[in-house]
Amino acid sequence: MGIKEKYKTLRAEIPESVSIVLACKTRTLEEVQEAIEAGARDLGENYVQEAQEMYDSLGEKARQVRWHMIGHLQKNKINKALRVFDVIQTVDSAEKAFDINSRAERAGKIVPVYVEINIGSEDAKAGVEPDYRLILKLAEGISKMDYLHLEGLMTMGPRFGDPEASREYFRKTRVMFERIASMDLPRVDMKTLSMGMSNSYKVAIEEGSNMVRLGTIVFGEREEKK
Ligand SMILES: *Cc1c(COP(=O)(O)O)cnc(C)c1O
Repeated sequence: MGIKEKYKTLRAEIPESVSIVLACKTRTLEEVQEAIEAGARDLGENYVQEAQEMYDSLGEKARQVRWHMIGHLQKNKINKALRVFDVIQTVDSAEKAFDINSRAERAGKIVPVYVEINIGSEDAKAGVEPDYRLILKLAEGISKMDYLHLEGLMTMGPRFGDPEASREYFRKTRVMFERIASMDLPRVDMKTLSMGMSNSYKVAIEEGSNMVRLGTIVFGEREEKK
């Protein structure tokens, strides 16, 4: 199956209420164009520079999609990131939130953000520890920042292995999501629970995800890093 058919088949299978963010790392312009022609409207990028290049190369098409930052965001890349991305899914500390907020203020925009939770991630550095107190405190902190709008949580979970092993992590993330939502904080509108990748999206949706981030299953295996 080509990329177009793959995307369309998945779009038909996955409930309408669940958004599909295509994880574009390592993919070519042609591959991403094909996905957009098949109807993809949300693109995820892990690096600011690659996102900028993809954005520029896509021309008109770049404006048909929402751009999601799903990789680690370095402080010195925030200004650039704000020019490309519509959503930053990887806020993992008060300090990072503060830095994004101050740059957003200068740019005169409100930036939708998600808090990334490190639930059983293989990359031990990405995300906030899955500790309720820490996460609620971070949500409260963000709610005091005028130029950030907290709209969800994101988690990776293990990328390989039995997807059933991710179920408990997804469940925990959902509980946190609901706890933050029930706090009724200003500038917080918990709409999106971003969890599930190619190997785990079905389990994630069963556990309440309404945004899955898919790469391999649409585009095929990635080449090994050189
Ligand atoms: C690469 C990536 C994905 C997609 O992973 P696949 O296993 O290729 O579906 C999802 N989320 C993040 C943050 C990623 O970096």
